[in-house]
Amino acid sequence: MHHFEYHDGRLCAEGVDIGAIVEAVGTPVYIYSSATIERHFEVFRALLGPKAHVFYAMKANANLGVLATLARLGAGADVVSEGEIRKAMAAGVPAERIVFSGVGKTEAELAHAVGVGVYQINIESEGELEALSRVASRLGKTQNAVFRVNPDIGAGGHAKITTGSSANKFGVSFDEATRLYARGSNLPGVRIVGLAVHIGSQILAFEGMAEAFRKMRGLVETLRGEGHRVERLDLGGGVGVPYEIPVPFVQGPDAIERYAAMVHAVMDGLDIELGFEPGRVIVANAGILVTRALYINQRADRQFLIVDAAMNDLVRPAMYEAYHEIWPVNEPAPDAPRIAYDVVGPVCESGDTFTTGRQLPEVRPGDLIAFQSAGAYGATMSSTYNLRPLVAEVLVRGKAFSVTRPRQTYEELIGLDRLPDWLA
Ligand code: PLP
Repeated sequence: MHHFEYHDGRLCAEGVDIGAIVEAVGTPVYIYSSATIERHFEVFRALLGPKAHVFYAMKANANLGVLATLARLGAGADVVSEGEIRKAMAAGVPAERIVFSGVGKTEAELAHAVGVGVYQINIESEGELEALSRVASRLGKTQNAVFRVNPDIGAGGHAKITTGSSANKFGVSFDEATRLYARGSNLPGVRIVGLAVHIGSQILAFEGMAEAFRKMRGLVETLRGEGHRVERLDLGGGVGVPYEIPVPFVQGPDAIERYAAMVHAVMDGLDIELGFEPGRVIVANAGILVTRALYINQRADRQFLIVDAAMNDLVRPAMYEAYHEIWPVNEPAPDAPRIAYDVVGPVCESGDTFTTGRQLPEVRPGDLIAFQSAGAYGATMSSTYNLRPLVAEVLVRGKAFSVTRPRQTYEELIGLDRLPDWLA
């Protein structure tokens, strides 16, 4: 379910005409819907049960307004860097609702996390266990931590977002988990309280996940049998969304429902605190990227539609061959003839292609079009490649909208560089 719909022939985000936002901030622009974010989070939390701890994976979308919207609903945050810890807290997520994941946390980042008192650190290697013990002991603290275990069961919508196979860098190996758990339980500065797993992203068929979760349940039982305290099991994120969406949009919370039913079935009767780290499923369909058509480049065998957004603004198609629906901002007639377009951006490489041969109603230079389902791994993965300023981000709520991140200025873009003395 999302809240981008046509009203009186114009695409709207909730009660706001996209054209009005573009008039105020220009293009390209990311536009997020509060109602959609809130609904997805509430559905997720309700289906996973009142005792579930939900830590929104902010790598999916770290816009301050998006984070604050979720923080007010009581969401925690799953973070992967000190920057994310700082931004989550700035948005109102208290440290005691923050989980710190990631394979390469530096000692400085660990010290920051321990210092602010995060809820949990997900340890991914023996070296990190030792570093955490050292850092927390030095600070005179004891940090709650879990081991992220690699169950050697991968899943995900693309090889680059599969994380649970033994060939992936994530987590301690399943066979090592019991030894490390015992070792961690004897080290100062850390209190090992459980396990974590995350096997991939954009998952819509949950058999692999169920297998991984069963394996994790078995490990919990083994560890408990050896006398260890295992209070928490963090099941990560990974629930996918439908990127190919019909008009009008009719998706219900089907994937979340199936996922929740699977979790309840696998964990039935296990007395443990369950944690979740959903990212994409909360925000993907809550955001669009609006861009303006610049030129049509007609070739003998194809028609390039050149728009003002590029791979630096939305890298998913170039990086993961990802599909995004494209909706014109002016509603086309249902029987409008379709034309096949290769939709491309201005960046100087051929990888800067959003789609090829896409059948769309005619688009003319100056028209606005929207990439749907761009709310997750869109703005957070953007860069300034080709020295293109980071685009504006706007949060809508009902009939109101707010620029929660202004477009980067050229001064901000260029001004960080410094000339060496010998060239000044
Ligand atoms: N948790 C961890 C450890 C992750 O690495 C990721 C994403 O890669 C997530 C949660 C969020 O995944 P998703 O956005 O698929 O829910």
